[in-house]
Amino acid sequence: MVIKRIKAGYCPVCQKKTVFISFDCWLRESYKCIICRSKPRQRAIIKVLDDTFPDWRNRKIYESSSDWGKGRKFALKHCQDYQYSYFYEEKKPGAILNDSCTNQNLEQLTFADESFDVVITQDVFEHINDPFRAFREIERVLKPGGGISLQYR
Ligand SMILES: [Zn+2]
Repeated sequence: MVIKRIKAGYCPVCQKKTVFISFDCWLRESYKCIICRSKPRQRAIIKVLDDTFPDWRNRKIYESSSDWGKGRKFALKHCQDYQYSYFYEEKKPGAILNDSCTNQNLEQLTFADESFDVVITQDVFEHINDPFRAFREIERVLKPGGGISLQYR
């Protein structure tokens, strides 16, 4: 393997000085922290949370279609109340998929009103049939003063 890019820096996900390294030119997916293997967009989410909700670790966070994989143990392990979901049309809305993961359609969430302080999505809205309905649902489940972090291509 040939190293395409390497640079020392600070990783907001594992909160350590580290080295970022990429073995190909697709930096968005491959420019990873050597400690926690986070991707640039994952580091961006934590940076936005740190900047917008400095106390996010004590907040109630919901993430649609999580993309963290093994990085979750670094990034969100300190969050007191983190839930995430995926959407499977053939499964019952709200069905429990594993310990903190449920089946959720962003256009028709099963959560109670004002359930979360922060809602996170990564590469989700381009797949939604009615994004306005999804935004209304997110507004419904956000507590007053809550926020949404969106990333899309
Ligand atoms: Zn890291």
